[in-house]
Amino acid sequence: MSSSRYQSSLWQASAPPGPITSRLSGPISADVAVIGAGYTGCSAALHLALAGVSPVVLEASEIGFGGAGRNVGLVNAGLWVMPDTIATAIGEERGERLLKQLGEAPALVFDLIARHEIACEAIRAGTLHCAAGSHGVEELTERARQWLRRGVAVELLEGSAAARLTGSNAFPAVLLDPRAGTIQPLAYVRGLAAAAIRYGARIHTQSPAIACENRGQGWRITTPQGSVDAPRVIVATDAYSSGPWRALSAEQVPLPYFNLATAPLPPELRARILPERQGAWDTKKILSSFRLDAQGRLVIGGVGALRNGGARVHAQWARRELARLFPALGRVSFDHAWYGTIGMTADALPRLHELDRNILSISGYNGRGIAPGTSFGRDLARVVLGEQSMDALALPQTPVRPAQLRALKGVIYEAGAQLAHFFQR
Ligand SMILES: Cc1cc2nc3c(=O)[nH]c(=O)nc-3n(C[C@H](O)[C@H](O)[C@H](O)COP(=O)(O)OP(=O)(O)OC[C@H]3O[C@@H](n4cnc5c(N)ncnc54)[C@H](O)[C@@H]3O)c2cc1C
Repeated sequence: MSSSRYQSSLWQASAPPGPITSRLSGPISADVAVIGAGYTGCSAALHLALAGVSPVVLEASEIGFGGAGRNVGLVNAGLWVMPDTIATAIGEERGERLLKQLGEAPALVFDLIARHEIACEAIRAGTLHCAAGSHGVEELTERARQWLRRGVAVELLEGSAAARLTGSNAFPAVLLDPRAGTIQPLAYVRGLAAAAIRYGARIHTQSPAIACENRGQGWRITTPQGSVDAPRVIVATDAYSSGPWRALSAEQVPLPYFNLATAPLPPELRARILPERQGAWDTKKILSSFRLDAQGRLVIGGVGALRNGGARVHAQWARRELARLFPALGRVSFDHAWYGTIGMTADALPRLHELDRNILSISGYNGRGIAPGTSFGRDLARVVLGEQSMDALALPQTPVRPAQLRALKGVIYEAGAQLAHFFQR
């Protein structure tokens, strides 16, 4: 846990406490066993509980321990690949349905936050995709064209309009997506978990699923000190999968991503940097992101892991990058530093599986899991409730296939980002 500096994240420091949970001890039974307490698992549990079904969530560590507690907090609409690419990859009809679902997913997130009164610094002011150079402008122009053709009111803003919204002269253009927004990501998942519990879900933390056995009528999921018997299982463990469903993380190439947070900025800088409080990221291959939190801390993120010399290299890069983007900041220091693993699939699409009879999973969000995880978690709950069939979901089901050269690619991402940040002056 300490190697990824999970505990030293800004989100750990500023999130309201999560619900009180305990380790599973002894045998229990449930209508549905949900494995993993991130967005996917907690959304599935909440929607099951709202429908009067009793789920038990098993979490290996603590609520939000995976990507949910470590991310940037950008509630994006859609995936990061171009909209047309999705339609080409999975077919026109399904692709458009997926784009529509993902486009509406931020609304689902903000609606759940409002309905369940989740205190998570939610701001729905859109996100800014920022062009790095003329290639970036070309990419965003094409992205805007593809979204506008689908009736989505994104706005390509250039020159002084881009500078005003970002507070920086570094970007010739930005693409404003009004569907999106920002949240405190750990507070959101803790809030989802608390809401699920209020409606009858049980959540056991420090309770990793270590085995899954076919008991004829259903499944027995074993943890070190207990077991759950359930006819149906939802596996929501994504890039952090351990135990019986390790194959789900093996499908994804690990991409490390870090975040560094400054002390709260003085009011005059808060008024100039991201004055409307969008979250932002850029079009670079080794991308970076920036946003403010509710206390006015500037959070800068980039590809890389804060280990093996990475902590120093990435922090020095982040200081230089912030000075380039916002010269008025002066020299900053960072109060919080953490990183996590993003799971990348070969075609950048999530993976939907029926792993065995009545064992369903969704994973592989490619760094876009807040809104999609919430939405697909609800989908899996609906499948379990018999309201929807797996085949009718917007994502096609695929066999589980390990990512090729996974470990090597992971090393290349980590080392490549460190080298790039070292040499980027
Ligand atoms: C640094 C970083 C930045 C990111 N930025 C963004 C962003 O700005 N916007 C965005 O939308 N997405 C972002 N993402 C991606 C997003 O965080 C993930 O896609 C999302 O968390 C996936 O949700 P999930 O619930 O499926 O999985 P997770 O949140 O990873 O949760 C999986 C859980 O399963 C548990 N688990 C694993 N194995 C077992 C087992 N055997 N038994 C019990 N429990 C188990 C883990 O402990 C974990 O808590 C980012 C990710 C990272 C790491």
